[in-house]
Formats: sequence, C-alpha cells, structure tokens
Amino acid sequence: MKHNVDKIKDLRGVLSNGGAMVKARRAMGLMGGTFNPIHYGHLVAAEAARDAFDLDQVIFVPSGQPPHKSGFFVADPEHRYLMTFLAIVSNQRFEISRVEIDRSGPSYTSDTLAHFHALDPTVAWYFITGADAILDIVSWHNTGGIFRYAHFIAASRPGYSLKKIEAMRRQLGDEPIARIHPLEVPALAISSSQIRERLTAGLSIKYLVPEAVEHYIAKNDVYAALKA
Ligand code: NAP
Repeated sequence: MKHNVDKIKDLRGVLSNGGAMVKARRAMGLMGGTFNPIHYGHLVAAEAARDAFDLDQVIFVPSGQPPHKSGFFVADPEHRYLMTFLAIVSNQRFEISRVEIDRSGPSYTSDTLAHFHALDPTVAWYFITGADAILDIVSWHNTGGIFRYAHFIAASRPGYSLKKIEAMRRQLGDEPIARIHPLEVPALAISSSQIRERLTAGLSIKYLVPEAVEHYIAKNDVYAALKA
C-alpha cells in the first residue's frame, strides 16, 4: 500500500513551496460499478482508495446500461442510483454522479472519463473498480483511449493474485500497466451477487449493506423479479 502511495505522489509530482511540499495537482476518485446493489465492500474500497491515494473526493458513478451484463437481473438504474445515494450521503468526501444514468446507450467508461477530464483537465482522475473488472479491460470500448484520462485502482480481496494484472502487460504495454494500481480491501469478501442470492432465498442482508439501502430494497421490492 505504501508502495502505491509513493508511486502516485511521484506521478503527480510535488512542488516545493518555501520548504513545504504541496500537491501539484488535485486528485479525485471515480468509483465505477453497477452497484446491484451497493454494499459495505464498495464503501470500504472507496474510503481505502481515498486514503491510500490522497484523493480529495470520490465520486460514485453508477452504470446506466452496463455494456457487458447479460444473463442476470440488473435493477432499474434509478433504483441503483438512489441506493448508491443513500449509501454515500453521510460521507462528506463522497459524491455521486448521474452522468452514466442520464447518458443514452451503453455506459462506456471511456466516455465517462472523457466527460470528467473535460470538466477539469487539471485534475488527476483515478477510476476505482473491482480487480476482476479491470482484468477485462482489454475488451472494454476504446481500450486505446481509456488510459489517456485516468489511472485505475483495482480493488481486490487479500490474497488476490496480482500476477493476473502483470500478465496483461504484453497485451496493454508498459505505460497502461503502470497506470493500474492494485489495492487490497478485506471487506470485498462481500459481493453484490451474494446479496442478490440472499434476497432470492429470503435471507437477511443486514450488516452487509447500509441500513438505509436494506430498507430501500425492502420498501420498493427492488429485487422482486428474483423471487418470482
Ligand atoms: P462486474 O463485472 O460486475 O464486477 C467485477 C468484480 O468487481 C465483482 O466482483 C464486483 O463486485 C467488483 N466490483 C465492481 N465494482 C466495484 C467497485 N467500484 N469497487 C470494488 N469492487 C467492485 O463489473 P461492473 O461493476 O459491472 O463494472 C465495473 C466498472 O467497470 C463499471 O464502472 C463499468 O461501467 C466499467 N466497465 C466498463 C466497460 C466498458 O467501458 N466497455 C466494460 C466493463 C466494465 P460486486 O459484484 O460486489 O460489485
């Protein structure tokens, strides 16, 4: 973890200011995911990334139309947006964006990164998502351009083999690989699919998701389709 922080500080560069070191660029996190539903693993990952990479804020970006999801139930984008909003509202350093919810067509990360870069090109953007999703990055839309606007933080459980990311070097090249930063997150043992399975089986999801999210799911029967 220390290794990562030092590396990022090098990449961003520091300026000397009368002996004091100050950050040359603001750094912001973009937490990308389907959040179907959001859980404590996502929240712990975002907070850990904020700490480790000295990010000013983390903006959660729920996918509108996930480009690669088929074969299982994805809750309505507005439900996923509202659940994510409820989960992050108490953290002053967390924000949420509707950019992918409001954009029509598949939610390509390259479009999202171009959007945030255009909002503020002076910011160093860090896209945070699961290591398994990152392992698939070669199949993402516009892989060539995707590394232009952001670094990537690959959140994984402890013990996850980082060799898998290193193995992508041949496909991606040295520069993109240097922009992928692994981050171990113990709470990522929780997963959205496990929560959906529990809901299908009528089991409790208490303490896996924030209480407000648990109540929202129950009140709106967000995953009713799974029980049918
Ligand atoms: P996924 O395949 O559902 O997730 C892969 C793994 O990563 C799962 O174990 C998942 O756990 C975990 N994960 C997902 N988001 C995470 C996060 N923010 N922090 C920590 N772990 C996370 O992937 P996804 O959630 O749909 O996609 C992840 C991001 O990649 C999204 O922003 C998506 O838009 C982007 N993406 C873009 C493209 C493209 O541009 N073509 C293609 C694929 C993905 P949970 O199931 O518990 O979340």
